[in-house]
Amino acid sequence: MSRKQEISDFVLAAFHKAQRDALWKNSGGRLDTWHVSDFVSPCLRKSHYGKIPELKSEMTDEMAAILYQGVIVHDNSTLSSINELTMCYDIMKRKSIDTSVVKNMDDDEKKNIITGTLDDLVKVGDDFVICDKKTYNARGYTKKEASPEHIKQVNIYAVMLEASYGIHARYGCNLYLDKGNGYKETPIVYDVAPLLDTQKMMEDILHELQSGMPQPTITFLCNLKNRDKKCYCNYLEQCKKDGRPE
Ligand code: SF4
Repeated sequence: MSRKQEISDFVLAAFHKAQRDALWKNSGGRLDTWHVSDFVSPCLRKSHYGKIPELKSEMTDEMAAILYQGVIVHDNSTLSSINELTMCYDIMKRKSIDTSVVKNMDDDEKKNIITGTLDDLVKVGDDFVICDKKTYNARGYTKKEASPEHIKQVNIYAVMLEASYGIHARYGCNLYLDKGNGYKETPIVYDVAPLLDTQKMMEDILHELQSGMPQPTITFLCNLKNRDKKCYCNYLEQCKKDGRPE
């Protein structure tokens, strides 16, 4: 190997380490509860696999690069004095729990607890608005509606926010930022769903996640028919072993 190639490899490895360090710093420590992302995933089987330590695989450089972009944007786009707010919530008891208390709980005590971090809580006039930033690749397409999983995520934050701080957020807003076009902004605003509806939805999902192996939900994320013909689920092989239909 030439000296220049050696230097190039060294610099690349150092950058990849810096990327992973940035992701780790932003992970907020491990509480080992359910996470809001488990509940909004289009496929609950994927969330189920994510809780099995033996199935965890090393993060690829490609995945680290995608997540790193999100970290850069979030670290440099504070919209309000209330931002990066981490909340824990016991779904069955319908009450918030301080993160410091959750840290000292055993696995059984944590089984009904969900953790989530909302990006920004902004106040516009008299209304609180939960804002969540999403980086994406528009490739010429203009987003007109928020994605269902992003709306679901904000609705869950609304339940947790009410329980944690007694704040009722009436609106949600996803700020979509197009990575391929200088982070061109598209804010999409919607009404937050009735809290009781979201509470019921969370209970149903928790029940399904705790009842064994959820059914596979094949979407563009794993059907290999998306624009890049890629599978964005790390558990494809395991899912096939567990009877995923072709
Ligand atoms: S491969 Fe598809 S259906 Fe199977 S767990 Fe992953 S996302 Fe779900």
